[in-house]
Amino acid sequence: MTTGALIAQMLVDPVGLILRWYDELQVAQVSLARLVGVRDIEPDAGDASAEPGGRDVHADTVHFGYREGVDVLREVSLRVPPGTRMALVGPSGAGKSTLGRLLAGIYAPRAGRITLGGAELSRMPAEVVRSHVALVNQEHHVFVGSLRDNLLLALPPARLGPSTESHGAAADGDGGVGTGSAAGGVEAELWAALAAVDADGWARALPEGLDTEVGSGGTALTPAQAQQIALARLVLADPHTLVLDEATSLLDPRAARHLERSLARVLDGRTVVAIAHRLHTAHDADVIAVVENGRISELGGHDELVTAGGPYAALWRSWHG
Ligand code: ATP
Repeated sequence: MTTGALIAQMLVDPVGLILRWYDELQVAQVSLARLVGVRDIEPDAGDASAEPGGRDVHADTVHFGYREGVDVLREVSLRVPPGTRMALVGPSGAGKSTLGRLLAGIYAPRAGRITLGGAELSRMPAEVVRSHVALVNQEHHVFVGSLRDNLLLALPPARLGPSTESHGAAADGDGGVGTGSAAGGVEAELWAALAAVDADGWARALPEGLDTEVGSGGTALTPAQAQQIALARLVLADPHTLVLDEATSLLDPRAARHLERSLARVLDGRTVVAIAHRLHTAHDADVIAVVENGRISELGGHDELVTAGGPYAALWRSWHG
């Protein structure tokens, strides 16, 4: 695009331009990840026909390393059925976050396959992956622009009109996110997403509401507010599967509790793979996968694994000790 055309585009359709940049950035990130993580993957990855035929996530004999010859994950196989809460636990450096990034399609395996509904994640276009699976971590970016721009980033262009379906109960229960309500279209979706994460109160009190400039130089947001914007983006993007890299939050306890309640509502009704850096958050998961030295050493429920007396029981004892 020429400079003149770029300026004209910025004047006529700034949001569309941002969305395209965002798309290109995401594609570039995934491409870079493929370069880093994969030697054998075909260069035409991004097969538009590779739509998932379901929601189950499956890792099949996955190997991955950041550097050639140094595998961080080895022979990892696991299945996450739709609606499951799975916790990944294990010692520091075992490969939990790395596995989470692979399950979210950020990196592709060096060998083996990660599939979503039978289709290989690394062969899907980045925007298709993003519409189904999201990685939630502690990096909560508030971009320079209005609060509205920051939220619209989460909506693919096709959904900038009325939408039709919602994956998550949190969205349904809070005023019709993703239900395409006749009442308000995109504007109503943005407010409902803010309400779903308890951010509508402070957002309405901003001097110019959704048009308030945030990010560097704009209205300063607290870390908790920035995290709420990230969660609201998640409600808008509405992926059915979330990989949650647990926040070891810098928030004060009250703000952290408040945010945890919002997060719980966002997780409701979705498949969740939670990377539990602290063991107590794994306790309630349907399935716990113990990652040790790049391998899955144990899989099962909390009581089952404590009774089995293996690696999880040892971790549990040491945590209690
Ligand atoms: P923790 O609980 O401490 O976060 P983890 O189990 O999540 O640990 P990973 O973060 O997945 O472990 O790290 C697994 C290994 O991969 C470690 O040796 C780590 O140093 C390495 N590693 C992680 N991220 C990268 C990266 N981006 N580039 C190179 N090496 C990395």
